[in-house]
Amino acid sequence: MTPPVLQAEQLSRHYRVRRGLFAEPATVQALADVSFDVYAGRTLAIVGESGCGKSTLARLLTMIEPPTAGTLRVDAQPVPAVVAALPPQLRRAVQIVFQNPYGALNPRQTVGAALTEPLRVHHESDARGREDAARRMLRQVGLRDEHYDRYPHMFSGGQRQRIAIARALMLRPRALVLDEPVSALDVSIRAQVLNLLTDLQQSLGVAYVFISHDLSVVRHVADEVAVMYLGRIVEQAPRDALFDAPQHPYTQALLSATPTVDRAARRQRTVLRGELPSPLNPPTGCAFHTRCPVALPRCAQERPALAGTHRVACWLRQA
Ligand code: SF4
Repeated sequence: MTPPVLQAEQLSRHYRVRRGLFAEPATVQALADVSFDVYAGRTLAIVGESGCGKSTLARLLTMIEPPTAGTLRVDAQPVPAVVAALPPQLRRAVQIVFQNPYGALNPRQTVGAALTEPLRVHHESDARGREDAARRMLRQVGLRDEHYDRYPHMFSGGQRQRIAIARALMLRPRALVLDEPVSALDVSIRAQVLNLLTDLQQSLGVAYVFISHDLSVVRHVADEVAVMYLGRIVEQAPRDALFDAPQHPYTQALLSATPTVDRAARRQRTVLRGELPSPLNPPTGCAFHTRCPVALPRCAQERPALAGTHRVACWLRQA
């Protein structure tokens, strides 16, 4: 069987932070024991509130920083712990598309220069070959040849995101991390960019890790969904299983807060109590117990493991 393109095995990341001149440094557990596989041509969506560890996970998957513990494999090859020691084929294997395409593009660089730059940095082809590859990629993302010499400010938000996607694909990566790729776009053009991503995945076979807080978008693109809370995956399942029968109370609350035209569904809305706790001082036991509407006494003492084929970390599902 073909190995997964991306394999995360118990990835954890913590940071030491100072809380004052004389205070002892504290530890922020930004990510804990995150495991999953993502295969070629498939999409794993990562969902959760802001502060749940999605951005830390994106930095680890794109090898911008190493995990504190655990292993990341790309095509079965372990990623070295020292970022400076990354071999070139690993550096190019996973690329990222950010939420804000305007911030991700250099305003003084033409589209052609932005697209050919990754090839030049990786010493690929000559100038003519790089230009040909960039023009081909422009057409593949739905832009035209004449856009090659234009600057980012001359494009709409949707076109700029197409350029950012094109640049991320120039090195023919094995996986793309898509960090809220449509949330900064007008609602009217989100579907176009999502359809483009689907078409590109089908033609190139690239694996996607799609990070989003928007469950309606996730439902549109994901094959599998992992729900994160305070740095841990609390539920993971194929898309339809998760949307049709969510098992974890946090997932149920997130889904019930998604706008719907179904009146019955609106009546059953679960409102979460309180704010997301600080990762500097996470709750004991199940980290969700301070907000869980169905918490048991043991939830504050013991943390449930992520268990089952429809993976859920909740004592109610493991009783
Ligand atoms: Fe709620 Fe307890 Fe399940 Fe955590 S383990 S989600 S607190 S019922």
